[in-house]
Amino acid sequence: MTTNVPFVALNRQYEAMKDDIDNAIFEVLRSGNYVLGREVELFEAELAKICGVKHALTVANGTDALVMALKVLGVRPNDEVIVPTNSFIASAGAVVQVGAKPVFCDVRHDHNIDPNDALKKITAKTKAIMPVHLTGKPADMVSICSLANEHNLFVVEDAAQAIGASIDNQTVGSMGDIGAFSLHPLKNLFVFGDGGFITVNCPWLYEKLVKMRNHGLADRNTCSFWGQNSRLDTLHCAVGLAKIQHFDKITERFIQIADQYTAGLSDIVTVPENVAGVVSVFHNYVIVVEERDRLMKFLIEHGVETKIHYPTLLHRQPAAAGFGGLDDAFPVADFLNSRQLSLPIFPEITQAEIQYVIQCIRSFFGNQ
Ligand SMILES: *Cc1c(COP(=O)(O)O)cnc(C)c1O
Repeated sequence: MTTNVPFVALNRQYEAMKDDIDNAIFEVLRSGNYVLGREVELFEAELAKICGVKHALTVANGTDALVMALKVLGVRPNDEVIVPTNSFIASAGAVVQVGAKPVFCDVRHDHNIDPNDALKKITAKTKAIMPVHLTGKPADMVSICSLANEHNLFVVEDAAQAIGASIDNQTVGSMGDIGAFSLHPLKNLFVFGDGGFITVNCPWLYEKLVKMRNHGLADRNTCSFWGQNSRLDTLHCAVGLAKIQHFDKITERFIQIADQYTAGLSDIVTVPENVAGVVSVFHNYVIVVEERDRLMKFLIEHGVETKIHYPTLLHRQPAAAGFGGLDDAFPVADFLNSRQLSLPIFPEITQAEIQYVIQCIRSFFGNQ
């Protein structure tokens, strides 16, 4: 019998938390404070706690968080920023938005930035490195931060997929100079639309970012520098605040689902490696298989929706043609590119659905 297993089903989370969310929304509607209302600061305080930083600042989306992080650190035209080629478009797009040049580097078999290749890409123009904690697994921040230290570079963490992940109890977004997160509906903690936030410990960077997201205004009538409008609506912050009460449960569930996939599949496909001291929050659960395209088609035929993160490496995007990455070698990213497959994972997926996905993959390999 075929069961339909969607890649995600966001409405299930709304149903599960309906009362809390409805109350939060209606309270904002009644309050009349729709921009920079009270829930914004309350939500930011909770985010700062979760991320182990002094300050969290909500912004309109995760891409703006990256752009503003780069801007506040002074990254500007002619600068270079090292970005792993296996990431979402926005990692490189943010660099381009501030006028700088993304310089692509290879990844390791855990899909994250390879510090050795990053080292090879450093030039006199390099201003920052952007480790991406892809799939919810922390990048090798110890190596990246020491590399950045030696070469006097900033570290901007793209933590869009990894809220709550940590290395030896150090949370992502707290290890570099600045962290950028997304609250988009496809992320582990999400609001009902676009949203994002920035994490930072340095007080003066924080003060500057507070102004930057609000037109560069120092007070109502004084513009101290040209900023942008990148505030997160009070409504979204109220929803985030309602959901963040369940954050530990949400994160545990992602990890639990991943453990079940690993237990059911590790003897037949390559599964994500567990590393002592490293907590991955499994934004995606990615298996690596030789017959990826055939398996994906087989799963669709059996009602299971999977995805590829990401089908095109950044240096091969048409928009990246001018950046010269096509002349470089990315052996690991290329290896993973044709073999990686993301399985359905979201807190409300049922046990029956998880077991069905495992059973389908096992039957593809003729192995019940
Ligand atoms: C989602 C995502 C972003 C961008 O976040 P938005 O909120 O969609 O702008 C940036 N980097 C990575 C790795 C992402 O997954």
